[in-house]
Amino acid sequence: MLRLTELRLPLDHPPEALADAVARRLGVAETALRGLTVARRGYDARRKSAIVLVYTVDVEVTGEAAVLQRCAGDPHLGPTPDTRYRFVARAPEGFARRPVVIGAGPCGLMAALTLAQMGFRPIILERGTIVRDRTKDTWGLWRRGELNPESNVQFGEGGAGTFSDGKLYSGIKDPQHLGRRVLEEFVRAGAPEEILYLSKPHIGTFRLVSMVEHIRATIEGLGGEYRFRTRVADFDIETQPDGTRRLRGLHLANGEHLRTDCVVLAIGHSSRDTFAALHARGVFLEAKPFSIGVRIEHPQSLIDRARFGSFAKHPLLGAADYKLVHHCGNGRSVYSFCMCPGGRVVAATSEPGRVVTNGMSQYSRAEFNANAGLVVGITPADYPGHPLAGVDYQRLWESRAFAAGGGSYAAPAQRVGDFLAARASTALGEVTPSYKPGTTPADLAACLPDFAIAAMREALPRFDRQIAGFAMADAVMTGVETRTSSPVRIRRDADCQSINTRGLFPAGEGAGYAGGILSAGVDGIRVAEAAAMALTGELPHR
Ligand code: FAD
Repeated sequence: MLRLTELRLPLDHPPEALADAVARRLGVAETALRGLTVARRGYDARRKSAIVLVYTVDVEVTGEAAVLQRCAGDPHLGPTPDTRYRFVARAPEGFARRPVVIGAGPCGLMAALTLAQMGFRPIILERGTIVRDRTKDTWGLWRRGELNPESNVQFGEGGAGTFSDGKLYSGIKDPQHLGRRVLEEFVRAGAPEEILYLSKPHIGTFRLVSMVEHIRATIEGLGGEYRFRTRVADFDIETQPDGTRRLRGLHLANGEHLRTDCVVLAIGHSSRDTFAALHARGVFLEAKPFSIGVRIEHPQSLIDRARFGSFAKHPLLGAADYKLVHHCGNGRSVYSFCMCPGGRVVAATSEPGRVVTNGMSQYSRAEFNANAGLVVGITPADYPGHPLAGVDYQRLWESRAFAAGGGSYAAPAQRVGDFLAARASTALGEVTPSYKPGTTPADLAACLPDFAIAAMREALPRFDRQIAGFAMADAVMTGVETRTSSPVRIRRDADCQSINTRGLFPAGEGAGYAGGILSAGVDGIRVAEAAAMALTGELPHR
């Protein structure tokens, strides 16, 4: 089979034009095409008046060798890569050492699923609740301003990305095609098939909920075991005579001690008490860069028009997204983060007395506003001195946002016009903020460091040149966006074990090895493979 990339066709091309274009590119008659599958479909909207679809197709063609020879030198034609997944190990019959996975987010779920499929019957410990109960708890904050610190947007089955836009793409290097395996497992769990070929797939919140339940049923069917409302409070680590530190077990918040020497640590970026417990036990972790800022909302129609012109609302394009970056005079970079077309801004705190924003949408992306994080990169130089200083820094601004919002989980919000004029908002305008339980007109300068405010003030007019109306006076900024990625990295070796604690496999976003659902899932597979090989003493079979 051959893979042909960069096949460009007009947005409204008739279906038969694809085969015709393939045949012409390969220099064969259409009758020589025995099979044609779209491997990827994206679009190029750089010229609004002439938006094109960009295909990658896999083709079965008569006389494949001759075609390859004739097209040698064409960088867009080659053999179709083999993306099939192969398990690296298998648990021996009756194998008694059960690996433990902490966290049922995308990383933990893919780690547990992979371990279960290899026959290891993992135990999954999750501090939050099953996803249906968690949905009710999350709505408790959004509708009534009541936070459950153990069951919320960050904690519970499905992890942080459950109430999200469900964007499933990532810029990671993935030579083993593990991203493909994540997507295939998601399709088996109920995601639409299109995620396998769209260049920017997304699934929205409702689908994610039932997919997570489906994955649970699969893991349990393979002998895995979930324990919900089970928080890991401490780590039992033994130092051996040669100085090597080894994990021996876990102390659970319910008082139980669980003996284990193999733990996948997939705790996400918000499990601050667990970071503290790891640090107190001497597990090596270090402060890492992340970003802080606000969510910005515009009418989705403005973004659609700016990006797609007269093609706005075209069914193949959907609601438009954007990706913006500006490098400021003060050395900071401002960029858009986790853009959610046709979605809403959500309350995403996991701690009482703090306000945190993020974004989500449904599959249809049909809500009135577009939202995105508007964030500024920061580094440990901004929060020096301690590996967990980034957590303190997040808390500082989240607490200020809570106070500026009025102390009831309402979030401080400001019109872009007021923000640029450096005056507090006293009322909001044409764009109604979607954040629940509500917003309070305020001055965001009280909730973020001066350099971040200055950087955003510089960036907004630049972004307006790329997306006409981006700096419209009534666009709304809601703060604060602090949980963009983990403030720490829990360093690991090439075999995926903590650099100073054997048996502990830091994984996913919380450990600093992923950013987003897909990359967290990929890392979960990678770490599950390493854990399986450590358990069996095997080398990879791949
Ligand atoms: P998490 O998903 O954070 O999972 C960690 C899990 O560990 C949690 O369930 C937690 O309860 C559990 N846990 C933590 N500590 C303990 C403990 N001590 N004991 C037991 N259990 C514990 N990414 C995208 O790619 N696309 C999107 O559209 C997108 N939208 C988002 C929208 C929102 C509102 C949020 C909050 C995030 C979004 N993200 C999105 C980011 C994405 O969700 C994360 O990158 C991803 O979930 C990280 O996966 P993870 O498994 O590493 O960690």
